[in-house]
Amino acid sequence: MLTIACLSLSGGQGKTTTAVLLAKSLAQKGYTVLAVDADPQSNLSTFLESDVGEEMPTLLEVFKGTVAIADGIYATGIDHLFLIPSDDALDTVQDYLSSSGVGAMLLGKRLEAMKTVFDICLIDSPPQRSQICKSIIGAAHQILIPCEATVKGYGSLVRTLDAIKELTEIGVSQAQLLGVIPFRDRWVGNNQTHESRMCIQEMITEVGKELVFPSIRESERYKQAISQGKTLSALGAPELESPFETLVQHLTAIIEDNH
Ligand code: ATP
Ligand code: MG
Repeated sequence: MLTIACLSLSGGQGKTTTAVLLAKSLAQKGYTVLAVDADPQSNLSTFLESDVGEEMPTLLEVFKGTVAIADGIYATGIDHLFLIPSDDALDTVQDYLSSSGVGAMLLGKRLEAMKTVFDICLIDSPPQRSQICKSIIGAAHQILIPCEATVKGYGSLVRTLDAIKELTEIGVSQAQLLGVIPFRDRWVGNNQTHESRMCIQEMITEVGKELVFPSIRESERYKQAISQGKTLSALGAPELESPFETLVQHLTAIIEDNH
């Protein structure tokens, strides 16, 4: 199982949008995908239409080990796509992780039991540099950083790279940088706005051209695709699928290399 984290340490950077659309694209391609909602805001759980009752186990119980991980995994209604949901109680895991002493390694440990069951695990992260984020970085083999094509987005990229470096340097994480995906890239007609162009250029300077994926354009279509559960092609905008097609190709190559 290849574990990928969507991580970006500011709010509204496109983490959940990327996680939902990438998870669906991978499942559609035939991979067995485990989506993990590691954000107490639980947007991923909402978008994947989890209707897990209050008493049912979520990522909180999986983290604490009070249930077997299999009991926290639910079908989503989409073939090959499964979910460990969250709710706002997940916030309480922060203290548990910091007092456990092995917080950064815990999520990876819990996921290990699923390593022969799923092809890909895709984790959606909260925006804060928290204990949960450390555990996500510890669990990930690959990290995908969505960031807005704005000055704030660039700042989020720098902060996220710094957090990953901190944990790789002390040997807690072996994560590789899968790449950066510019989010809400603004075009007016055939012209990219100056701000978007400059900010994406800064991202390229920071991580290298080969690690910057095709951008997610500023468009209501992505929101519609998620809220209506439709593909971008079904909404008449197949060209907007390009970032996800490229990501799926890239991940397919990594999976084949690992075999
Ligand atoms: P958080 O840090 O709060 O979890 P996030 O990084 O997960 O945020 P998203 O929730 O994916 O970010 O996206 C932020 C907002 O941008 C959402 O309101 C979403 O509906 C909107 N959005 C998604 N795709 C696009 C797009 N292509 N163009 C414009 N807005 C978009
Ligand atoms: Mg989110």
